[in-house]
Amino acid sequence: DEGLQKTKTNFFDQLSKAVVGKSTVDEAVLDDLETLLVHADVGIDTTVKVIDRIEKRVARDKYVSTSELDRILREEIVELLDRNSGATGSRAILDRADSPGQPFVIMVVGVNGVGKTTTIGKLAHRFHSAGKKVVLGAADTFRAAAVDQLIIWGQRVGVPVISHGMNTDPAAVAFDAVQKGVELGADVVIIDTAGRLHNKVNLMNELSKIKRVMQKVIPDAPHEVLLVLDGSTGQNAFLQAKEFTKATEVTALAITKLDGTAKGGVVIGISDQLQVPVRYIGVGEKMTDLQLFDRHTFVNSLFK
Ligand code: GDP
Repeated sequence: DEGLQKTKTNFFDQLSKAVVGKSTVDEAVLDDLETLLVHADVGIDTTVKVIDRIEKRVARDKYVSTSELDRILREEIVELLDRNSGATGSRAILDRADSPGQPFVIMVVGVNGVGKTTTIGKLAHRFHSAGKKVVLGAADTFRAAAVDQLIIWGQRVGVPVISHGMNTDPAAVAFDAVQKGVELGADVVIIDTAGRLHNKVNLMNELSKIKRVMQKVIPDAPHEVLLVLDGSTGQNAFLQAKEFTKATEVTALAITKLDGTAKGGVVIGISDQLQVPVRYIGVGEKMTDLQLFDRHTFVNSLFK
């Protein structure tokens, strides 16, 4: 998998270096492993958890060969990701043969620059290519660029974009987009929102209002609140995730820019600490550079 090349090379190389010349897993190896996980941006809490679990295995089995370390580490990481694993939600969307005027509504949240608009474009492409009818809503009305970009993505993919322009009421845009989705018999409606984290109360109120208003059209909408995080920002992504989960109920994550970073470990920490499933990963700027998250594929990509 070329998209994750950088992430894997670094992690695997470093693990190999950490155990070079050593036959058994001892304190020193575990220390090195701990440093490595922290550098890979797994986060302190999750790193400590992983090291503790391996320490217990070492204590139980008395002797653990360093040649087994990468297998053991993989098992432990997959285990951490297990509870939160993957793609069921998005598969459910694609499998929805029965959408009688009830589109699946995805509200997308995240701060500017993380790749929110791009991710929406990629998702639109993904669903559209699967034969689904998609409507986009440009409710990030604070930035002219965000509205324009979404319109461009809509044209590129070939799906309608509902927009009222800049500085209009985001809730009204969301309402119209969901309404349009129902009218057109769409399968999926994806709503872009503004992510102004520096004003927490505003953010919270705005997201609640958008939800409330779309619920006038579809009472159980949004069916997914997708938080987009930039994986290349490491612990910063983690902090954003914490803030957003306080501001609204986040049901899934999309982690972008994992193509250009050695910090893929952030996915493990975020997934473990927040107990929110990672749904998608972004591995490039192109329309097709979005992958459904699969924990086995992901963990393997960290190593080989
Ligand atoms: P927004 O402000 O959150 O809507 O961010 P944009 O969607 O405009 O993306 C910001 C920049 O990140 C753009 O240059 C995108 O092409 C780039 N980008 C988005 N996702 C990815 C990704 O997965 N990998 C890479 N390398 N770049 C990405």
